[in-house]
Amino acid sequence: MLDRAERVCAERGARLTDIRRRVLEALAADHAPAGAYEVIERLTHAGEKPPAPITVYRALDFLLEQGLVHRIESRNAFVACSSDHAGAEGAPVVFLICERCGAVGEAATPAFADALRALARASGFRPRAPVIEVSGECAHCRTKLKLREPDAVDA
Ligand SMILES: [Zn+2]
Ligand SMILES: [Zn+2]
Repeated sequence: MLDRAERVCAERGARLTDIRRRVLEALAADHAPAGAYEVIERLTHAGEKPPAPITVYRALDFLLEQGLVHRIESRNAFVACSSDHAGAEGAPVVFLICERCGAVGEAATPAFADALRALARASGFRPRAPVIEVSGECAHCRTKLKLREPDAVDA
């Protein structure tokens, strides 16, 4: 993950400074999205002075710009990019957000991108950065639910 971040930044002549790397690491440590203050918490080790919020906000802005981090609007939180589309401008990103555990999965296929483009074109609409948030239950939580309700029929 961090190797890819290094590569993406190097290709664009952007610098992955220490604080930017640490913010990215803090987000990558968990599949659940984190708000800016949670990022600060994750970055603060016992007995240490926490980083200034403005520093963290700037690092988040940088990571968003580089496509290394995504913003989950419905949660007002951030998640590290787990796919390899970083840099593919205008490519739609689909977030699968679990309502039970809060985990966020990232999914997108070229077929979906084409379908979305055709849909927008039909309306004469030019999408900038399509982000689709789908809420539901993740595979992990569904398995746990099934164990609890052995008679439940898989939908
Ligand atoms: Zn991504
Ligand atoms: Zn879940």
